[in-house]
Amino acid sequence: MEPDEPIDPNEDSPVIDADDEEFDDEELGDEPPPRSPWVGRGLIAAALGLWGVVAWLRVGGEPRVQVRAAALVDDDDDGDVVDHAVDERRADAADRADEGDAQADDGSAEAEVALADDDDGAEAEAAGAGADSRSDEAPRVVDDTPRDPRERLEGKSWTESFKEPDKVAYKVKRGGSMKMIANLYKIFHHEIQALNPGVDLERELSPGTQVVVWRRPGDDFVSESVGYAGDGSLVGGVPMVDGPGRILRMEPWKSYATVHNIAVLDGILRQWGKRFPEDRPLLVGNMSAAKGGRLKPHSTHRSGRDVDLSYPQKIVPGEEEYNWREMDERNLDADRTWALLELLVESGEVELVLIDSKLQKLLYDHAIKTGRVAKGELGFWLEYPRRPGSVETIVRHHPGHVDHLHVRFKCQPSEGRCKSRDRE
Ligand SMILES: [Zn+2]
Repeated sequence: MEPDEPIDPNEDSPVIDADDEEFDDEELGDEPPPRSPWVGRGLIAAALGLWGVVAWLRVGGEPRVQVRAAALVDDDDDGDVVDHAVDERRADAADRADEGDAQADDGSAEAEVALADDDDGAEAEAAGAGADSRSDEAPRVVDDTPRDPRERLEGKSWTESFKEPDKVAYKVKRGGSMKMIANLYKIFHHEIQALNPGVDLERELSPGTQVVVWRRPGDDFVSESVGYAGDGSLVGGVPMVDGPGRILRMEPWKSYATVHNIAVLDGILRQWGKRFPEDRPLLVGNMSAAKGGRLKPHSTHRSGRDVDLSYPQKIVPGEEEYNWREMDERNLDADRTWALLELLVESGEVELVLIDSKLQKLLYDHAIKTGRVAKGELGFWLEYPRRPGSVETIVRHHPGHVDHLHVRFKCQPSEGRCKSRDRE
């Protein structure tokens, strides 16, 4: 199973990012029905009239802003070295991937990715009001006052707590040499030697050894996203760091993003680990190459702003092995997926999330059934049940996002060359 867009027939054209014209309607399905006869038109006219009345009624209501009590607890932790432990056996796979072999994207490779120490104490205090409520009780009263969830979720002082790494260390798990680690990250041998002076390139390293794979250069160092996510590049890319709430499942050389986006993703996943310490961590899939550009099999992932994450999964008998998996009503944890979406939006840094329409339907139905999300917010969150591409929601459909969701971070105000269709 591929972690991303494996069957994307439109692979060579940026689908979401580039211009609106590039947003391929054909691929997004749901063509409008053929013209209706007169009777049908009468019905449409009546429906439009009714819609007008409803719209008029809605405009009257002021959007209510709710303040949620969930506290975001700051991380005071682990020094400046962040472990990035990956199984060295994947070195071969990385080399194969270099030859353009999309097979190497298979997240189901035998890799076991070690989690770095979690010294957060795994406090559950941040679970917040109702974060863990997964009731099958009777439907609550539906509140459909239109309101933008971003108003409810913003202002959590997230940006202050995003800690930008100035050093990323790779922890040797089974063995191997520094040369092999350089290959995993696709950095030059002289570069890894400069980062780890005095260590012989060929020497066999014992498990647990830390090798520096990235260190922030001097003051004039710039890390920025350039161009569209489907057509751009990355300057000053940094590899993703390990930590709580995640299992890194990408080839290390596909784990790069801007310093800022690495910090944001790290912060989000730390929060995830804190809020749901009993849950399985999220799988983190492909991001970008060190310098961005084309990253097979993706149409995007080119400018250090994209990351693939696993859906929060329910454990289904016979599917205990934790991996990328096609989601449906049996194994999608809809409540937790909503929690993840809220966490992403709370960061204030997420531009959009790609989720297949059929899973959006499950999220929609869950929200209506449980009242987990106010009905009035759904139109801002989900494209479903509207036609894909017809509205600019936080969650959008794109084919191939049944076994993972895709997060795109915003352009930063300082990134003058970063392009986004949501920015122009
Ligand atoms: Zn993706």
